[in-house]
Amino acid sequence: MYRRTVLKSFAALPLLSLSPPPLAQPAAKAVAPRRVRPADAAWPGAAEWQKLRAAVGGNLLQVHALFGPCEGSPDGAACQDVYRNIRNPFYIGDQPGGTQVSGYLNAWTPAPSVWAVRARHAADVAAAVNFARDHNLRLVVKGGAHSYLGTSSAPDSLLIWTRAMKQVTLHDAFVARGCEGKAPGVPAVSTGAGAMWIDLYSAVTTRAGRYVQGGGCTSVGVAGLIQSGGFGSFSKAFGNAAAGLLEAELVTADGRVRIANACTNPDLFWALKGGGGGTFGVVTRLTLRTHALPEYFGAAWGAVKAKSDDAFRRLIARFLAFYAGSLANPHWGEQVAVQSDNSLKISMVQQGLSREEARAVWKPFFDWIGASADYTVTDPLGAGAHKAQHWWEIEGNPSMIPDVRADAAPGHGWWQGDQDQVGAYLHGYDSLWLPASLLKESVQPRLAQALFAASRHKEVGLHFNKGLAFAAPEAIQASLDTAMNPGVTEAFALAIIADGERPSYPGMKRPPMDLEAARNDARAIDQATQELRDVAPEAGSYLSESNYFNNNWRQAYFGDHYPKLQAIKKKYDPDGLFFVHNGVGSEEWSADGFTRLSGTRA
Ligand SMILES: Cc1cc2nc3c(=O)[nH]c(=O)nc-3n(C[C@H](O)[C@H](O)[C@H](O)COP(=O)(O)OP(=O)(O)OC[C@H]3O[C@@H](n4cnc5c(N)ncnc54)[C@H](O)[C@@H]3O)c2cc1C
Repeated sequence: MYRRTVLKSFAALPLLSLSPPPLAQPAAKAVAPRRVRPADAAWPGAAEWQKLRAAVGGNLLQVHALFGPCEGSPDGAACQDVYRNIRNPFYIGDQPGGTQVSGYLNAWTPAPSVWAVRARHAADVAAAVNFARDHNLRLVVKGGAHSYLGTSSAPDSLLIWTRAMKQVTLHDAFVARGCEGKAPGVPAVSTGAGAMWIDLYSAVTTRAGRYVQGGGCTSVGVAGLIQSGGFGSFSKAFGNAAAGLLEAELVTADGRVRIANACTNPDLFWALKGGGGGTFGVVTRLTLRTHALPEYFGAAWGAVKAKSDDAFRRLIARFLAFYAGSLANPHWGEQVAVQSDNSLKISMVQQGLSREEARAVWKPFFDWIGASADYTVTDPLGAGAHKAQHWWEIEGNPSMIPDVRADAAPGHGWWQGDQDQVGAYLHGYDSLWLPASLLKESVQPRLAQALFAASRHKEVGLHFNKGLAFAAPEAIQASLDTAMNPGVTEAFALAIIADGERPSYPGMKRPPMDLEAARNDARAIDQATQELRDVAPEAGSYLSESNYFNNNWRQAYFGDHYPKLQAIKKKYDPDGLFFVHNGVGSEEWSADGFTRLSGTRA
């Protein structure tokens, strides 16, 4: 109930292919060094792999696709196990070949690495990095596997899989290495890079009564989210997740284990805060600031449908005025959806207000709806709150689905509202940071009209917690000290327009996709996005939740920070060992990351 799915209608559309051709990478020109593939003579032989296996304590795994066990034995127990668990994000994350997204039309398809190092600590990671570099292999890094852009999946590669590094430790007064005597100790939490946010929320909030800023989806990896900037329901109060980073341990392309914080390698530290995962090195440990826990977390919910287009326009306009007057503050985050059937769906979340206070905030808006014959409440409207410390408890929480596998870690579960996203196949995806200037009274009618026009093509999700205008001043300040596009601090929301269908992993048995319908869906997403771009032509986009085909990704993701990020990339990874689609420095490589484009060598 408290979290909503981004992809609403995963009904039964079938689908796949042809939206715009991949624009982001220049067409492969001729090239200088090419990474090796298994069919190449230079691919390491058995004895070489054996050396790596020994160096990582035996933790070298052969990787198969998620539905690999079904090849040849569709009725076997192993295959049935995959089908039984394929809607469980924790199960998917536990598989070395698992990806939480089952593909993206015309963009990418999950493909297992050849080998994976199941890293236990930085030394394992260093061994794998050295091996990949010395043998000229395509390297890929995976934590929680929640990449919409497919950046933790690459065929013919060596995978560094961080899943096993998940120890969580709390500190009363953490001082970053090298900062002794320069900064006071602060309450913090350290975690292995393979932990998921639920691991931190359980340790920090449920068990210790404090707060750490992370992501909304409980099974997202900590390291992946921090490196993409990262937002959770309460980011309007605490900033983006990267803003809370105090220190990282990572292995760079030269195989060195480094510390990055405000006093040691500060350039690298800044780049890790939102400069993109899989780009600057392999993070092995993170330390994040913790905060006093608000007394209450709560929500507002419901859905209302207008009886005519005109009435829907008025509803959108009324909501925007209500948002600007009553919700644009550090209390309120999460979403409303402006839907194509003239419905407004409310899935907002708040921190710091009691049940009575939350209800009082929403009363005027709910009363206005109730007083008009133009609207039908299709899902009861309400607002409330409860003790914040119980927010991420799984047991007895009707909003959570527990991981009930026999070997599941205690306290693992996911929001009901996120279920539809598990294993989703994307037809299209886009996002824009909508500037707060659009909420000025004189401009609101234009925004309302644009939202209405966009919704004729596709549902628009307004994620208020993913834009930091109206956030707490300290949160804005800390977020400005990250590599994320600074435009995020001037945006009142991230508009997300995305859709897809149920899982469609390679090798999975299901009805064939209706490719025509999928292409039409992708086109509708583009058209809806264009309606919003017309009123926000300079809008940036959140790298982790963005269009694979965004040709303007450097500016959209990072704004004026890109040249600085590029310089840091060249300093720590001059030969481009770390490559991800639309990542810093990726313009020097072919789309698959195997071939360095001529004339681009550092
Ligand atoms: C269903 C779903 C829900 C989401 N919900 C949210 C949300 O609520 N808030 C939000 O801000 N974002 C959200 N995202 C986006 C998500 O935060 C990013 O995609 C994030 O990068 C995922 O991290 P991961 O470790 O789970 O994924 P992975 O796919 O494992 O990694 C993502 C990227 O980070 C790199 N990476 C991972 N671990 C490391 C490491 N240790 N060192 C170096 N690089 C690494 C990978 O190489 C890859 O490029 C969501 C995504 C999905 C699919």
